[in-house]
Amino acid sequence: MEVIECKNNIKCELGACKNRATHAVKFDRVGIRSRIYACDKCLNALYAAIGRTVVPKSVETAKTKSGKGGAR
Ligand SMILES: [Zn+2]
Repeated sequence: MEVIECKNNIKCELGACKNRATHAVKFDRVGIRSRIYACDKCLNALYAAIGRTVVPKSVETAKTKSGKGGAR
């Protein structure tokens, strides 16, 4: 899975957003129609939401080191 740049004139698919999509989330082994198109704003919001929920394996150790909570 990867995030690619979207140069086509496609609308953002996230929520009720009507911006033009700047990026597309591409999934492995599925067709072009399974891509998720998102604008910068939604992609950031999505990333932030994912970041609150999912901790990547590599970051997990660093986070434990710096203590709980963190800057906000
Ligand atoms: Zn959007």
